This record gives sequence, C-alpha cells and structure tokens, in this order.
Amino acid sequence: MQTEVVLSLGGNKGDREKLLFRAIELLNDHFQLIKVSKIYQTAAWGGKAKGDFLNQLALISTGLDPEEVLDIIQEIERDLGRTREEHWGDRTMDIDILYFGSLEINSDRLKIPHPYIADRKFILVPLSEFLPDKIHPTTGRLPLEMLEACKDPSEVKIWIK
Ligand code: AMP
Repeated sequence: MQTEVVLSLGGNKGDREKLLFRAIELLNDHFQLIKVSKIYQTAAWGGKAKGDFLNQLALISTGLDPEEVLDIIQEIERDLGRTREEHWGDRTMDIDILYFGSLEINSDRLKIPHPYIADRKFILVPLSEFLPDKIHPTTGRLPLEMLEACKDPSEVKIWIK
C-alpha cells in the first residue's frame, strides 16, 4: 500500500539552496517524489544572531512504514550534515514528517501529524499554497485556517518561484 507523506525540509547553515536541492535528490532516490514546493525564506528572530532559514515542503509516496521513512530522512540529514564547513555535528538540514497519509502516531520516536504544524509559519505559509486542501487529521483544519489562527510572528517570504 502506498501512502502520501508530506515532509518539511529546512536549514540555515552552509549553501542552503544547494543543500535543499541535494536533499530532494536524495529523497527521490528512496521514495516516489510527487512534487516539491517553492523555497521560502524565514527571517531569524529572537536573541541569537542566526542566519535566515530556507524551507521547502515535499510530497512523496511510499510503501514503507513511518519508522522506516524516519530512518531514511535521518540518514539524509546525517549525510548532508557532513557537507557543511563548520563543526561536525552541526545541523545543516532538518527534515520532519508533517503528515503520513491521515495516520496519527504518538510514540517516543514519532509524533504524526508533526506537533508544530499549527504553530509555525514556515510550515503553514508553504503548506497553504502547496497543499491547500490537506486536512489535519486530528483537528480537521485546513492550512489556511491554521495560518489565520497562528501567532508565530516570523516573516516567511518566497525565495525562488
Ligand atoms: P529534530 O530536532 O526536529 O530533527 O528532531 C528529531 C527527533 O524528533 C528525532 O529523534 C525523531 O525521533 C523525533 N520526531 C518525532 N516526531 C517526528 C516527526 N514527525 N518527524 C521527524 N522527527 C520526529
């Protein structure tokens, strides 16, 4: 059985755009890649002087189970972590599973839908455009409904169309 899975990708270190392209290539090696969103930039805010994030969503289809998908995305995160110029162990790529079909999982290792979907503009702004009809299986809400209620002050802009 094939399931459609929504992934969120992002990073704020190294060549962020190249790292996103590479992450998508690696996802394509393991899954059937259905489509990818535009790339969005989220201005860093708060105390620490961090670089802005680039974020992107990917819709894939897979016959694997959620734990197996998590193993693969963590392997991709590790692979891409090695390409950055700073210390080993720094994170250049974060990949999260936002939705796994309409499955709900709450285990030590996996929370699906991802618990931060409704709280983060860098997820909701892309999602509203990329998958406007995707209903959150727990709350029944659409991306735009969650975005309108979201209190995250971050500014999210399109990076490339
Ligand atoms: P992060 O710092 O966002 O990369 O968090 C990584 C940890 O979150 C991993 O140890 C995962 O087991 C856990 N996790 C829980 N739910 C999810 C999810 N939906 N997608 C990705 N990682 C998850």
